Amino acid sequence: RKHSRGTRASGTRAAAGCAVAAPATVPARAARWAAVLSTRAAPAGDRSVLIALGANLGDPHAAVDAACARLQVFAAAGFRASSRYRSAPVDCPPGSPVFINAAVAFEAREGETPATLLRALQAIELACGRASQRARNSPRPLDLDLILFGQHVCAEAWLTLPHPRAHLRRFVLEAAAEVAPDWRWPGRDAAVLGRLGRCGAA
Ligand code: ADP
Ligand code: MG
Repeated sequence: RKHSRGTRASGTRAAAGCAVAAPATVPARAARWAAVLSTRAAPAGDRSVLIALGANLGDPHAAVDAACARLQVFAAAGFRASSRYRSAPVDCPPGSPVFINAAVAFEAREGETPATLLRALQAIELACGRASQRARNSPRPLDLDLILFGQHVCAEAWLTLPHPRAHLRRFVLEAAAEVAPDWRWPGRDAAVLGRLGRCGAA
């Protein structure tokens, strides 16, 4: 799904499919939401995790609260949650409610991998009422996207890191800038920043 401008308001397969990327170097940008990609950025730690939360069905704030509480279990240290953002749905069914978005960052506890964490996110989505089978872009009580897991890079349909669309979503970047302002995103280069500029102007 796409959004308009936001306003503040199986395990072994994954282990084999993910690699650790060389850090990317990118130009600094003035906009606050682009701070996550600035040249001042340092590589995220091996276990540094960034997750984006979204909800637009039922009680979105309650769902985000519940998800934040459940996600703390996976943190060994440094758990922090962003402000909430409102973003209007685009390319969604007519009458789709606005989304409430946020981001959390933390250092993952020992034993978690990108695969185990993604499965955990999907279990939390289901526990919060999300249907396992649903129409594309349909309203959802909770959407949890794994944006970054350290410097892991992988590109399989069931798990892509960094998340393939996160850097195009202003509300993700804004929330990420609050909780992980100095993390470098693996594989994001100057070409990506051109798209970010258009994202920022949207
Ligand atoms: P979106 O989050 O773009 O609205 P969905 O939540 O419906 O879309 O997409 C879920 C699908 O995306 C799942 O099949 C999941 O395996 C896959 N996926 C791939 N990479 C990731 C990721 N980094 N985080 C979350 N889901 C991912
Ligand atoms: Mg998702």
